[in-house]
Amino acid sequence: MSRLADPDRLRALLDTFAALSEPDSGPGVTRLAYTPLERDAHAVFAARLADLGAVVRTDAAGNTLAELAGTDPAAPAIGTGSHLDSVPNAGRFDGIAGAAAAVETARLIREHEVAHRHPLRFVVFAAEEGARFGQACTGSRIVAGLTGPDDLREKRDAEGVSLAEAMSAVGFDPALVGDARWDPADWAGFVELHIEQGAVLESEGRRVGVVDTISGSTRLRFELTGRASHSGGTPMHLRADAAAAAAEIVLLVESVATHAAAGGTRATVGRIDIAPGSITTIAGAASLWVDVRGLDRGEQQRAAAEIVERAAAACDRRGVGFTSHPLAETPPVPLPAAVRDVLVATCADLGIDPTVLASGASHDAQQVNHVTPTGMIFVPSRDGISHDPAESTDIDDLALGTTVLAAGLLRLDAELP
Ligand SMILES: [Zn+2]
Repeated sequence: MSRLADPDRLRALLDTFAALSEPDSGPGVTRLAYTPLERDAHAVFAARLADLGAVVRTDAAGNTLAELAGTDPAAPAIGTGSHLDSVPNAGRFDGIAGAAAAVETARLIREHEVAHRHPLRFVVFAAEEGARFGQACTGSRIVAGLTGPDDLREKRDAEGVSLAEAMSAVGFDPALVGDARWDPADWAGFVELHIEQGAVLESEGRRVGVVDTISGSTRLRFELTGRASHSGGTPMHLRADAAAAAAEIVLLVESVATHAAAGGTRATVGRIDIAPGSITTIAGAASLWVDVRGLDRGEQQRAAAEIVERAAAACDRRGVGFTSHPLAETPPVPLPAAVRDVLVATCADLGIDPTVLASGASHDAQQVNHVTPTGMIFVPSRDGISHDPAESTDIDDLALGTTVLAAGLLRLDAELP
């Protein structure tokens, strides 16, 4: 007999979280990493789980962990959860959907008095969004041992505040984050539910997805040096136009990704700065930010290398100087088949035909997978929109995904050692 998640309870919880938003910050939800509002959201999560009888603690990174004891005190834990911070002017589902699903899962297990052998842990990670400090998944990187005190001092937000300073301001000692590291022996598995942030499920008319791979990302900044001069006085053949070279690069980036032999590579120029930025001056300099996402590490690196090579050649032809600066390199993460198969089988039990798909965005799950086998459940995003106030997921789809999450965790409980 399956235990069905309640859409009304999920909606009410989403409303509670959405109300925790920076006032006067414009449309949508603004609840940035390591701010008092993010802590308030964690306190709501902690209180809900404590009400359900879970033992709740906050670790040195600001992650909140709530545990329902299992019948075998020696068994490692099975976990679920996501994040509660947002980008500026966000929607109300990114991360929050998985946190609300975790609360609802705990409630289903308590209400139906379901016995489970492993302890079940409900987790919300701090600072998942890279919007404030340029680094995504800070809380989950810390538990996986991938981010330490030195990194926290180096990464800064637009106001010059370091991650370490922001953590201190909300009551955490960045020197102690090593204490938050998870011991693989203490974990049996983890599943994160998240909104898709793409339109694959919607376009296929599916309500639940199971993730097989989380995309990697190669991020680059190109600096182009042209020759600024008068737009009327300079003949076309005597120009070194940094803006024209930048335009050529935007199109060749698109072309490389469109023609990538192995499927799944996406490449984007998301930002261009042109100087001096005057209608009557030929651009003397341009900066471009390039994001290459791949599902295969070799293909991702090949596409990035081809973009750099062709951009350099295009600039050379135009007499424009070119340099490429690496910003970040994250390989794609294939999630383990064992957890994925359990989630797909759980869907089948519930009469759901899921789509197995890749995640274009990065997630806490990929960091957690360094510690314990991890899976992901996706629910549809309306029109594929995310990181925008228009972000939306049908509450019945979120409830269905939550039903799969709860049943999947219990199936893992039965199958994992
Ligand atoms: Zn997210």
